[in-house]
Amino acid sequence: MILVSSCLAGLKVRYNGTDCLDDAIAELIGSGQAATVCPELLGGLAIPREPAEIQGGDGHDVLDGRAKVVTRSGEDVTALYVKGAYETLRQAREAGAEVVVLKANSPSCGSGMIYDGTFAGVRVSGDGVTTALLARNEIRVLSEEELPGFLAGRA
Ligand code: SF4
Repeated sequence: MILVSSCLAGLKVRYNGTDCLDDAIAELIGSGQAATVCPELLGGLAIPREPAEIQGGDGHDVLDGRAKVVTRSGEDVTALYVKGAYETLRQAREAGAEVVVLKANSPSCGSGMIYDGTFAGVRVSGDGVTTALLARNEIRVLSEEELPGFLAGRA
């Protein structure tokens, strides 16, 4: 079983009520090989919600208490992001997920790159909060950009 970001499967769960459907993910869902998860909804956030970014580091720093997740208007939503990460970890374990495919650049789901906390569209290297927690628990995380290579290697 593969766990995937809900927004990549076409569910309108992004902060602005949109999705970011990915055709390869849709095929995995359609063939019963994947299930969906949205860490931010699991953390208790609503649709729509204010955009948020990590300030002071990346998801690993958030888990270690050195950085926080804040909305554009300055509300500290760190606890909700951390809660969503732990709920996602629980679901990944329950599903026995072989790999988790998470949406690139998100403060929860980003892997390798996230926004820099200035809300200016600037990306920096780092992981989202959920990606960091899954990685710490030895669960493999890929972005949707890495999925085609993974599927080709598996075929
Ligand atoms: Fe939910 Fe992750 Fe998609 Fe954001 S990027 S809407 S947290 S699944």
